[in-house]
Amino acid sequence: MSTVGVRHHQLFIDGAQIDAPDHYEIISPATEQLVCTVAKGTVAHADAAVAAARRAFEEGSWSRKPPHERSQVMRAIADRLGEDSEQLCELEIAANGATLRQAMAFLVGYAAPHFLYFAEQAASYPFESTVATAAYPTASSNRIHRDPIGVCAAIVPWNFPLLLGIWKIGPALAAGNSIVVKTDEKTPLSLLRLAEIAHECGLPKGVLNVVTGDGPEVGAHLASHPDVDKVAFTGSTAVGREIMRLASGTVKRISLELGGKAPAILLDDADLDIAVDGALFGCMLYSGQICESGTRLLVPDALHDEVVERLVARAATIRLGDPADFDTDMGPVVSARQRDRVLGYLDAARRDGARVALGGGAPDGAQFERGFWIEPTILTDVTNDMTVAREEIFGPVLCVLRYSSLEEAVAIANDTPYGLTAGIWSSDPERAIEVAERLRAGTVWINNWHQIDPALPFGGCKQSGLGRELGQGALDEYTEPRHVHVDLTTRLDRHIFDALLSEPPAGR
Ligand code: NAD
Repeated sequence: MSTVGVRHHQLFIDGAQIDAPDHYEIISPATEQLVCTVAKGTVAHADAAVAAARRAFEEGSWSRKPPHERSQVMRAIADRLGEDSEQLCELEIAANGATLRQAMAFLVGYAAPHFLYFAEQAASYPFESTVATAAYPTASSNRIHRDPIGVCAAIVPWNFPLLLGIWKIGPALAAGNSIVVKTDEKTPLSLLRLAEIAHECGLPKGVLNVVTGDGPEVGAHLASHPDVDKVAFTGSTAVGREIMRLASGTVKRISLELGGKAPAILLDDADLDIAVDGALFGCMLYSGQICESGTRLLVPDALHDEVVERLVARAATIRLGDPADFDTDMGPVVSARQRDRVLGYLDAARRDGARVALGGGAPDGAQFERGFWIEPTILTDVTNDMTVAREEIFGPVLCVLRYSSLEEAVAIANDTPYGLTAGIWSSDPERAIEVAERLRAGTVWINNWHQIDPALPFGGCKQSGLGRELGQGALDEYTEPRHVHVDLTTRLDRHIFDALLSEPPAGR
């Protein structure tokens, strides 16, 4: 493929654009056309980025800046993310195939408010606090300082690169850390732009560095780097396990946001108009390539046929097409590899005895000859032991499972190694909340999906991850508590030293 005439993007290390001998070709998932080229980072680039981050951290131009001043710089960055959202949408969807409406609502639409939340946290977080305690035998004052950890590494996937980057960059910067972000090979553009914006807004050089590079080489190098203090990762559970292993060498702090296989329980009192549209929204937004998507719809026996009929009728109205067209409902999946993976799961479903009620393959039509397309697909007769019910498909594929009692529904819902999100469709909120209490998931949505607020914690139970992003505790993951104890006893005979020294000092 000729790269003549296309824009070339470079890495962002120590406040400067840095090129590399090799490059990635960024391909439009909708047309397979070359969008641009991007410098392909190496282990040496990762080392340079970590060294810059360490130097900046030790220098203190950010790490020791008063938190309210960090907050001001971060507010300026949040403002720019809002102002530049059109350009960021273009960069995001050109590489990952999300539709313009999805990018405006979620992928880029969430970026400025989420960054702003962390800017506000920089100003309000209790970096220093005094704790009243009666536990010590002598009077004391006890302070807790929450210090930045040092150099953080963030490894992000391709589905929500800008936003998932911000979920790590935001709290890291708010707490005074330096950070090196490794983008996914396919989708580096929006985060490279964020690094430029941040520096234009006054972030000192070296504090935020963005490198590209192959995961098993550059990502793994960062995860085991002796001078990296914390690794934050979003991606597959398999790579999450590897990151844990790599980070263990120097006992790094880690936070992991991994896969999901969320159950959506449709209760027998659900408003079916809302539940049917909501179940499709929950599963198929961004072609189903979201870790928190509701991919297993649990339907009571008595409503099964009606619900399936309605799901098929509504899903058949989803318009596939050019992601940049405002009227398009669903774009392609991100890559040929991802398309083939999804098709493989559909083959497995058929072999296992599931029925394809809608879709089930690549769409017909000249428009879909190029690009990586999968039809909106509804599978019925799915049982929870089938591969499609157990593994993350990451495509627009809704699995419908039957249940005959609420006990059975809860058991099926929890019968998964994952625990990121779950959902309930019901017209009785009290009853739904009682069911929610029995579900093992980091987030339970009742009568909605994809509702992620920066003020509320997000993360997984079981093999869906470790730690929580967002919420008031987000900065806890990027700080190290330091307890400073000041003893207030002025008289030796009132001290506790006699636990060892029973003889009074000479002359007393
Ligand atoms: P992945 O986990 O392989 O990649 C995510 C990030 O990790 C990328 O930046 C990649 O370069 C990096 N990486 C890969 N191998 C690494 C290693 N050995 N050490 C360090 N970093 C490494 O995900 P994928 O291959 O893009 O997608 C595969 C599947 O993962 C998807 O089909 C989906 O099921 C799941 N996934 C989940 C999420 C999520 O948000 N939880 C996001 C993307 C993919």
